[in-house]
Amino acid sequence: MGVRPDRIVAQFLTSAPSLKECPEPGVPEVAIAGRSNSGKSSVLNQLTRNRQLARASKTPGRTQLLNFFETSLGGRLVDLPGYGYARVAKSQKHIWEDNVEAYLARREHLVGVVLVMDIRHLFEPFDVMMINWSRQTKLPMHVLLNKADKLKHGAQTVALRMARQRLDAPHFSVQLFSALTGLGRDEAIDKLSVWLTPLAQETGFVAPLADLERN
Ligand code: GDP
Repeated sequence: MGVRPDRIVAQFLTSAPSLKECPEPGVPEVAIAGRSNSGKSSVLNQLTRNRQLARASKTPGRTQLLNFFETSLGGRLVDLPGYGYARVAKSQKHIWEDNVEAYLARREHLVGVVLVMDIRHLFEPFDVMMINWSRQTKLPMHVLLNKADKLKHGAQTVALRMARQRLDAPHFSVQLFSALTGLGRDEAIDKLSVWLTPLAQETGFVAPLADLERN
């Protein structure tokens, strides 16, 4: 690929409570998911170097919405509502599942999901749910083992190997990440740049073969 951007330039576009209220599809979308406290907002800050992004998603009234950000690459980042607050009511969980599942299952031009996991708490039930869903639909999933700075190098390597073994299908990829130190930034930006750049039929851009494998 060409020169790597030093950040993903992004700005808030809109929020939507459900699939039918999402903005017109038309450009590639990448959804960002993670349990609350996995560091999802910090990851967005690190990749975009724009603190407004996470702030936009954490604005009261927006935390249960799908938050759309347009990027200078052409595609959109879609911050999925937080999930897993300790005392979240059952009814709220259903709303999350209905709205987010509908978006994930039926959204046109959704090209991939970034799943943020805390490297010290891998494969919690929410993560497994997302992974199983990606396994069924074969939608590409890129997993960030965030907060890698909290572990020593050896333990990071063990966690990465274990995660790779578990995410054994070709549409999964996984990497170490630290929103605090910037570890893994380049790799994540490369992945997002490919996903967020509109495909050949729209602009003449030809994505690398590996990313066109999805059927
Ligand atoms: P969110 O709820 O998933 O959006 O998580 P936040 O981004 O708000 O982060 C939750 C907490 O984890 C905050 O105290 C962050 O400062 C911290 N955090 C996030 N990413 C990292 C990281 O890579 N390393 C460390 N050490 N702390 C992090």
